[in-house]
Amino acid sequence: MREVWLERFVESPDVLKSARCQQTVVRVLDLEIGNGEFFTMAGPCSVETESRLMATAIHVRRAGARILRGGAFKPRSSPYAFQGLGLEGLKMLARARDESGLAIVTEVMSEEDVPMVAAYADILQIGTRNMENYALLEAAARSGRPVLLKRGMAATIAEWLRSAQCILNHGNPNVILCERGIRTFETATRNTFDVSAIVLLKQISHLPVIADPSHAAGCSELVPALARIAVAAEADGMIVEVHPDPANAWSDGGQSLDFAAFDEMMATMDPYLALRAIALRSREREAPQLETDELRTMEAVG
Ligand code: PEP
Ligand code: MN
Repeated sequence: MREVWLERFVESPDVLKSARCQQTVVRVLDLEIGNGEFFTMAGPCSVETESRLMATAIHVRRAGARILRGGAFKPRSSPYAFQGLGLEGLKMLARARDESGLAIVTEVMSEEDVPMVAAYADILQIGTRNMENYALLEAAARSGRPVLLKRGMAATIAEWLRSAQCILNHGNPNVILCERGIRTFETATRNTFDVSAIVLLKQISHLPVIADPSHAAGCSELVPALARIAVAAEADGMIVEVHPDPANAWSDGGQSLDFAAFDEMMATMDPYLALRAIALRSREREAPQLETDELRTMEAVG
């Protein structure tokens, strides 16, 4: 790794690739995130009704998603907007997992809620507004659940990695980084999708990196192209908002794909996934192979 990255990310040494760790694989149910496969997490912004959630779970599973997303606790820009169903929403997610076989990712917003959310979710999502909430990061880390750490909307990559390091420091190595767009001077899109962050992190960090094209774009028409770009950038997966009736969604309807648009997007991914697989294979061949003895010595020393 180039010296410049070691210097720039000196405060988060354990998230960087090293001789000891080139890639973290996060195990969730029977899935291995970071193993080279591209994983799709899909579902509504918020958990709304049981029938909508169930229909979405069944649909996205059939189209190739392996993880169901949906917020039961919602951080909203306005205090008057729908705040989520809370515990009732978590129970609906658990029933959707039983019905569909999908793993569940859902946001946890406060330290006190961690035990309850961790009792229902397979992956805890830390949202953009909480990336630097260290008490929450610590509680999430201690829950033992994998953590999906979204990038703060105004956070540098160094700050984001520092938060990941904090989770590692509290004994949880299962962190998935999620690029969801950052605030820039551009206002036409909801956020600016920082694809270079994905490219950089795939080179320097052993943690799985996924993209959130929905919150980056803020507009459903742009989502499929951003998703394909995430594949080309060799992300480990994506998290995307899907709703049976976006026009009547309780949150983020404008950026949610309906079922037909989700199917269409998934159907266009294959050539990009094939190119990604070729690129990953050739990179694997190029990677310097450490001798087993060398690795053993390092383990003994470090
Ligand atoms: C969400 O996933 O619905 C969400 C609120 O995401 P973010 O924290 O990235 O805005
Ligand atoms: Mn949302």
